[in-house]
Amino acid sequence: MCGILGFYGNDKASYLTALGMFAEQHRGQESCGMAVSDGKVIRLRKNMGLVKAVFTDQALKELPGNIAIGHVRYPTKGSATEFNSQPHLVETLAGPCLALASNGDIVNYAEIRSWLEHRRVYFKSDNDGELLVKYIAYKVERENKTIPDAIKGLMHEIKGAYSTVLLTRNELYMFRDPFSIRPMVWGKTSDGTVVVASESCALDTLYASDRKEVPSAGIIKVNEEGISVIENGVNLYRQEKHQSHCIFEQIYFSRPDSHHFNENVYEVREKIGAELAKLDADLEADCVIPVPDSSNFIALGYAQEKKLPLSLGLIRNHYVGRTFIKPEQTIRDESVRQKFNALPNFFTDKEIVLIDDSIVRGTTIRQIVDLIKQAGAKKIHLRIGSPQIKYSCYYGIDTPTREELVANQLSLEEIRQKSGADTLKHLPMEALRKCVTSSSDYCYACFNGEYPVRNGKI
Ligand code: SF4
Repeated sequence: MCGILGFYGNDKASYLTALGMFAEQHRGQESCGMAVSDGKVIRLRKNMGLVKAVFTDQALKELPGNIAIGHVRYPTKGSATEFNSQPHLVETLAGPCLALASNGDIVNYAEIRSWLEHRRVYFKSDNDGELLVKYIAYKVERENKTIPDAIKGLMHEIKGAYSTVLLTRNELYMFRDPFSIRPMVWGKTSDGTVVVASESCALDTLYASDRKEVPSAGIIKVNEEGISVIENGVNLYRQEKHQSHCIFEQIYFSRPDSHHFNENVYEVREKIGAELAKLDADLEADCVIPVPDSSNFIALGYAQEKKLPLSLGLIRNHYVGRTFIKPEQTIRDESVRQKFNALPNFFTDKEIVLIDDSIVRGTTIRQIVDLIKQAGAKKIHLRIGSPQIKYSCYYGIDTPTREELVANQLSLEEIRQKSGADTLKHLPMEALRKCVTSSSDYCYACFNGEYPVRNGKI
């Protein structure tokens, strides 16, 4: 999971892009970067770390221009290094200078890279953003294609998830994979600046209205002549199912104040909570506690349905970051201990319903249950707002291998015992489908193994 940003038509493009990237910081905290064009030169800055640390006032002053793209990275393909951070910049000899940032993963990466390497295209990183920009540059420079035609070719040949922004010296492009797996929305500010982002919460920060999704397999070009929609939601692979939005964006990844895939994210989460509560008609408890923050609205939905009080018994230190998106287990473990604390004298002798969004390795929830037990809770009923995760994700989320997923190692009862909870229930798949209006337009592959795009290892 990463976050992308794009701007066209504002002299403060670098400042505004940094603001938008900050709104999307939850989508990636390992590194960030920005490319800005002043019409003649594209300047690039990227580094490890958070947006506020990398893009200081001085750094932004050194990025003049009115077109920009930005990226916050959470590493999936390629290690957490500056080399692999985005955007990637390519100077072609005869053609344009291109910078690209993308959210998602390419499933036929090895095949396309090898095809390009056989044609003497060299790579500096293992990142799929570099693959996309080198592919486009090759088609433009060596096959004399226009950029839109190169992107159309890319959509036929490169498989996977990619919500992408591309910058030339005087144009901004936005395009998206044929299944629109990751979110991507665009809009305009009152002064006519065009803004594109992974999530609408970034557009809110920038007062951009008139929002639309970038369509599946859509290509939109913005330049001094205006906005041209070059491709608009074609069913590229002519399959019956031609949209496969990531359901986990609704459950966990996206901010609750975002709106995408025609849903308010917080409302989907409330419905998930209500569906979970329906599994517990006979359960009596003192209160409902979310694992903050991603489970807050699921817990709210549960509490409303069960008519139980919602209590914020766990306090999260917001300066630690998300545990699931820390790349190493040791860092994840330390983060959990630093991240959560229990309210003093709150849990004593209480029977609680503890709500979390998912269980991946099972280590985080064990520590949280432990913390609440030590704080005096009498009984913990653990409720999870998603089905069991049994398959890895190949579309931009760093889930572990199938063998490492706890749902493939232990039975549900063994997971309950390992977690330390008194009871454990997951949201069934059919109940999850009821929480979105167009349930057939989603990917559920990490629960059921039905991958919308397959290649090689999948
Ligand atoms: Fe989302 Fe899971 Fe599909 Fe990956 S496999 S895109 S995490 S639903």
